[in-house]
Amino acid sequence: MERLANFIGGQLCAPVGGQYLEKREPATGEVIALVPASDARDLEQAVAVARAAFPSWAATSVEERSRFLVRIADLIEAHMEELAWAESRDTGKPLWLAQQVDIPRAVRNFRFFAAGLLHFASEAYQTDSQAFSYTLRQPLGIVGCIAPWNLPLYLLTWKVAPALATGNCVIAKPSELTPTTAQMLARLTVEAGLPPGVFNVVQGEGPAVGTALVAHPEVRALSFTGGTRTGEAIARVAAPMFKKLTLELGGKNPTIIFEDCRFEVAVHEAIRAAFSNQGEICLCGSRILVQSSIYEAFRREFVARARALRVGDPLDSSTQQGALISEQHLQKVLSYVELSRQEGGTVLCGGERLWLEGRCRNGYFMAPTVVEGLAPGCKVNQEEIFGPVATLIPFDSEDEAIAYANGTAYGLAASVWTDNLGRAHRVAESLQSGVVWVNCWMLRDLRTPFGGMKHSGIGREGGWEAFRFFTEPKSVTIALWRD
Ligand code: NAD
Repeated sequence: MERLANFIGGQLCAPVGGQYLEKREPATGEVIALVPASDARDLEQAVAVARAAFPSWAATSVEERSRFLVRIADLIEAHMEELAWAESRDTGKPLWLAQQVDIPRAVRNFRFFAAGLLHFASEAYQTDSQAFSYTLRQPLGIVGCIAPWNLPLYLLTWKVAPALATGNCVIAKPSELTPTTAQMLARLTVEAGLPPGVFNVVQGEGPAVGTALVAHPEVRALSFTGGTRTGEAIARVAAPMFKKLTLELGGKNPTIIFEDCRFEVAVHEAIRAAFSNQGEICLCGSRILVQSSIYEAFRREFVARARALRVGDPLDSSTQQGALISEQHLQKVLSYVELSRQEGGTVLCGGERLWLEGRCRNGYFMAPTVVEGLAPGCKVNQEEIFGPVATLIPFDSEDEAIAYANGTAYGLAASVWTDNLGRAHRVAESLQSGVVWVNCWMLRDLRTPFGGMKHSGIGREGGWEAFRFFTEPKSVTIALWRD
């Protein structure tokens, strides 16, 4: 069985305390690796090497840093197959999905920020003939990047690439449930020649090493993606320490289907938005709001297609939905199906655990589930389930659709399906949502800001936002003397 390691100062190393956690494969339920159960002592070591590495890393030229990022991107691409396999094994997602989405996106993240860095400029202003002012943007020092388990390498690199690009030293904390690809990335940074101490990985649980990272006084900024409760706990520690913070948190995203949508593509994409990655994407559309005039027709098609989704071994190329991340998470998702019955809903398909045969007989599989008849304000329509469960909610008017869409504590992403351009603009403007897609879902231009409103988070990642987040702006004004 593989024994994973921390990556500190360019070396793979065992946790100081010698303790390990068991990592189970979601598709089989078997223990496949031991993960360092790191604590504050490991974090302290990572801080020490990052502190030592920072001055020379911050002093490297922009072109040099950009070249490092390109080299890392090339190496990820060269190791695409091994990384995708590890990502699928760690998460339970179909292998083809890791090959087509997760790992290519990690490559794009590094390429995007490598290129962006070469073009990033801060502002300069001339104040009449009196003065000249400009903004200096300096690296912060040591920054923490904390990632969740659903898109492990994709989301980690989305943070790490801009942090390194702007001259910071990084301490990354992957989820204890999906530790493998972060370690593989660490190895690739060595191959890319990244100086020791610039990129570090501490493995282990949030309450142990995660809190140590958040509370360390020398860690100047935290970029966190994960659950809303965890984000709240992090903010409670980091805010009084005046750390820079981006929190990318949970969602309860609406897919809004108007009667004038292109029906076929709307059903197809609503299914993809609800069930991709087993419904374990923060951007998944789990509340499907459908205009009453087409509700019956939509429900028929949607349920038929959800029922037809092939749940199976993630290694099988015909599998459309793999295993959920853990037994505990599966039980949580199933408990929401039970709750939906108690809240007066009707389960139209799915709702149960699936037991496969052969290699996956003990895996954490669940049938794609569709529920209708629930009030928009009930718990199942308010709380993030983060699994393959979608609810159908009819609406009559545009105003009602907007009210339902905005009627949760979250505000991460929404998709709107209509052929009416005016409506598309009106609805997009009215939605309390950090990301709005019209006639598409999860189509990302990395230059646009990414993040949520309300309980879905604070701050934004992506594009110039990331460069601004990972640097400290300083205004310099020079008086123009005229002797
Ligand atoms: P989580 O909050 O349990 O864990 C996320 C990370 O934080 C893990 O690495 C974990 O070990 C660490 N952590 C836990 N407690 C901590 C603490 N007290 N201090 C520091 N670190 C701590 O989330 P998860 O279950 O891994 O991921 C699922 C959640 O992530 C869902 O709510 C989902 O919506 C959200 N998510 C959001 C986005 C987004 O961009 N908004 C993207 C993906 C996932």
